Amino acid sequence: MVDQTNKDERYKARQQKVKDEVDARVEAAQEEKGLFLIITGNGKGKTTSGFGTIARAVGHGQKCGVGQFIKGTWDCGERNLLESHGVNFAVMATGFTWETQNKEADTAAAQETWAECKKMLADSSYDVVLLDELTYMVTYGYIELDEVIAAISNRPAMQSVVVTGRGAHRSLVELADTVSEVRNVKHAFESGIKARKGIDW
Ligand code: ATP
Ligand code: MG
Repeated sequence: MVDQTNKDERYKARQQKVKDEVDARVEAAQEEKGLFLIITGNGKGKTTSGFGTIARAVGHGQKCGVGQFIKGTWDCGERNLLESHGVNFAVMATGFTWETQNKEADTAAAQETWAECKKMLADSSYDVVLLDELTYMVTYGYIELDEVIAAISNRPAMQSVVVTGRGAHRSLVELADTVSEVRNVKHAFESGIKARKGIDW
């Protein structure tokens, strides 16, 4: 019985210490500004995380925009839902594929979507802008890295931006406030299981 009381007290003291440390850190964080987040890596969960952030912001009544730089052949569940909640979508024209044979057409399609995104990045009425799969546009040279850095750096002070996609350029990683890398432990596709509506798109 005495033993149990001692254990409980030690537990309480430990938890109090953790709480004090967290409180001190919360107290120390004084700056308020829009954030630049990157979700990168080879594992599944980047786009869903980006859209999760958009859903979170929409739930708070915030204004959001989404630029989608790789349009799949399937319709996008998140777009079906969020467009009807006032989220503005700029989606890359059909015709773009992974096995691209036409750099000129792909560059033009990327540029068209990027022009729409730049408008959102310059508009202080947007609280959160998701640039889904933007990393590839930089990797393939469809959009200039310097342009992306300039648009994100010069955005309105309270606006947050989320960029998703594998292989985020190190200059973008450097500029970002929060960077998460999703690691692939295993994926159903590797076991020959087909992509599923509601899970994969
Ligand atoms: P999600 O949209 O599910 O969050 P993601 O954005 O992290 O995935 P992408 O690289 O954009 O991943 O790929 C999109 C599609 O590829 C999804 O259908 C996803 O399930 C699938 N995918 C993601 N990671 C892997 C992987 N490591 N192996 C095979 N397929 C993957
Ligand atoms: Mg994705």
